[in-house]
Amino acid sequence: MEISEQARELHDKAVIYDGHNDSFIEHWARKEPMEIVGEWPEYHVDLPRLRAGGTTAFNCMVGCGDLFQAIELWDPIFQHVHNYPDDFLLVLEPEDIERAKAEDKIGLVPQVECCRFMNRSLRILRVLYELGLRVAILTHGEEDPDGLRSPDISGRFCTPADRERARRDYLGLTEFGKAAVQEMNRLGIVVDLAHTKDAAYYEAIELSKTPVVFSHGNCFTLSHHWRNLTDDQLKLLRDKGGVIGISCPRSFIAEDEENRTFDRFIDHIQYAIELIGDDHVGYGSDFDGTTKPVPPDPTYQPQITQKLLDRGFSEETILKFWGGNFLRVFREVREAAE
Ligand SMILES: [Zn+2]
Repeated sequence: MEISEQARELHDKAVIYDGHNDSFIEHWARKEPMEIVGEWPEYHVDLPRLRAGGTTAFNCMVGCGDLFQAIELWDPIFQHVHNYPDDFLLVLEPEDIERAKAEDKIGLVPQVECCRFMNRSLRILRVLYELGLRVAILTHGEEDPDGLRSPDISGRFCTPADRERARRDYLGLTEFGKAAVQEMNRLGIVVDLAHTKDAAYYEAIELSKTPVVFSHGNCFTLSHHWRNLTDDQLKLLRDKGGVIGISCPRSFIAEDEENRTFDRFIDHIQYAIELIGDDHVGYGSDFDGTTKPVPPDPTYQPQITQKLLDRGFSEETILKFWGGNFLRVFREVREAAE
C-alpha cells in the first residue's frame, strides 16, 4: 500500500501508544528467551518491526496467572531497559512517554491483566505499584468466587439480549474488586476494564474517580463478541472521560471469516469515533496475545494512518487516536493520585 508524504509525516509526528501487548508472556509460554530485540519472525512483535511501525510506547503485559509468573514477566522489562538503554525506557509517568518520543526510544508501561493473583491483598497491589505498575486490568474474565466474579460465559458471540441479561443478572465487583479500584485511584494506576464482564463494567466505571480505559476490544455493533463494548457501554466510557483501544483479534473485528479485513478493522475506529467522539478512541493491538491479528504486526501502523486520512479524518483526530487520548487519561490519573 502506498503511503503518502502527508501520512508519513503525520505518522512520524505521532506519539504511538499501544494499549496492550502480550509479547513477553508469549515468549515465556513458549519457553524462549524473553527478549524482543533482534528478529523474531514467529511472533507479531520485535524491535525492528516496532521501529518500522513507529511505536513510541506500549502497555507491556506482566501478569495474568499467578504472582510468581508476574514477577518473572517483570524481569524482561528491567532487562530491556538496562541492556538496551538506547532502545527502551521504563514508563512511570506520562512525561516518560514524551521523553521516549523525543529520544527515539520505546517506552515500556507495566500492565497486569487481572488482579486475581494478588490474592485479595492490597499490599501486593501496592508493591507492584512500586515495581512500576501503572495500568491494571481488573479481571481476565475468570470465574472466581473470591476474585472479581463473573459467571462462565462460554460462547464467544452473543446477542444484544444476552448482553442485557449479563448486565442485569450477573455478579459484579467483589469487595476486593471495589477496594482495588479505590486503591488504584489513590496510587495513580489506570483502571483498565478490558475483559471485565458487563455487570462489573458498569459498577467499576461508576466507582472509579478517574477516567478508565478499555485497553483492547472493539465495537459490539460491528461484531457481536462478548469482548466488544455495546453502544451503551461506549457512551458511558465517553461520559466518564475514558478511552477504548481498538484491537486486532480477528473475532473482535467480524463474526464471519471473510469480513475480518484490514478495512473492517478501520471500520471499528470510525464507528467508535463517530459514536463517542475523537477524544475517546485509541489503539490496543493485543499483538502476541491473539492468533493471526488484523493487521498482523506493527509495520502496518503507517497504513492505519493512511487509511484514516483516506477516510477524511483530520490530522488532529489521528494524533489523538495514536496516543493523545491514552496519554490524556494517564495524565489525569497521575494528577489525581494522592
Ligand atoms: Zn486480553
